[in-house]
Amino acid sequence: MKKLIVVLLVILFATLLLSTEFYIVKEGDTLSKIAKENGLTVEELVQYNNLENPDLIFVGQKLRLTPKYTQKDLNEQLVMSILWYQNSGEMRALAYQAFNVAKLIYDMDLKEEATQTRAVIVDVDETVLNNSPYDAGHIGTEHAYPVGWTEWCEARLATAIPGAVEFLNYVAKTGGEVFYITNRKENVKQATIDNLKMLGFPFADEEHVLTRTTTSDKEPRRQMVAKKYRIVLLMGDNLNDFSSLFAKKSVEERAALVDKMKEMWGTKFIVLPNPIYGDWEGAIYNYNWGLSPEEKDKARKEHLFMWKYEQ
Ligand SMILES: [Mg+2]
Repeated sequence: MKKLIVVLLVILFATLLLSTEFYIVKEGDTLSKIAKENGLTVEELVQYNNLENPDLIFVGQKLRLTPKYTQKDLNEQLVMSILWYQNSGEMRALAYQAFNVAKLIYDMDLKEEATQTRAVIVDVDETVLNNSPYDAGHIGTEHAYPVGWTEWCEARLATAIPGAVEFLNYVAKTGGEVFYITNRKENVKQATIDNLKMLGFPFADEEHVLTRTTTSDKEPRRQMVAKKYRIVLLMGDNLNDFSSLFAKKSVEERAALVDKMKEMWGTKFIVLPNPIYGDWEGAIYNYNWGLSPEEKDKARKEHLFMWKYEQ
């Protein structure tokens, strides 16, 4: 008897689970009626079921009420890049390499006569601060940026990118100033200043931490610094940290522009590695960040150069 109850409960549970995932079309059903009854929009139903004609459904048709490929599935793709970012010696070596090159350039500039105070402009996230635990936290969940981002910033738990604190203190020690031009918003400015200060970064103050204004374009903020200072170099993990020419450019245009500016890399512009996120990813989606996880997965795979072994 007990066994029978357990079996019946399992069947009931499975049926309930299945009925929340699928719907079998009945006589007189329309897509808008099904959508409404299940708290969905017609567009969502069309998308989940790849329907070509939303007016064409038939009795007995099995419709998905949840997407087949979700954000949680897409988040699995973060595993390798975050593993590399957090665990590889290569990542640390690249970071030291970036700040060592920065010091060489800075030292060269120190030999020249300058009328204005020297300044180094750095981006914050994934340039001087490591936020990868925040990104890793999305794995296994349906969450994506910006969910939890404010809370992460307020927790002040970001760590320093290897070599950053030492180099920027060297700039300060030799009479230069550091400007942090970040697209973190005003509401987390104090938390960002605190986090930088805790880690020993110089110039972690109101005047030198320039958060996002009305625009995410960093050019006006760069110009502001350029008015009074001699900008020796710029450091960032995103092409937009160096020039606004890269804004909203396609994958091909970005590559062509990088080639065109090839003299700048490692001489005036220093790039830090970020395989986790960035405008390089936006370019893959033509900056259509609202694509569904399934569409993003498709766009990503379409951009892979592939060679397949065939027997
Ligand atoms: Mg950044």
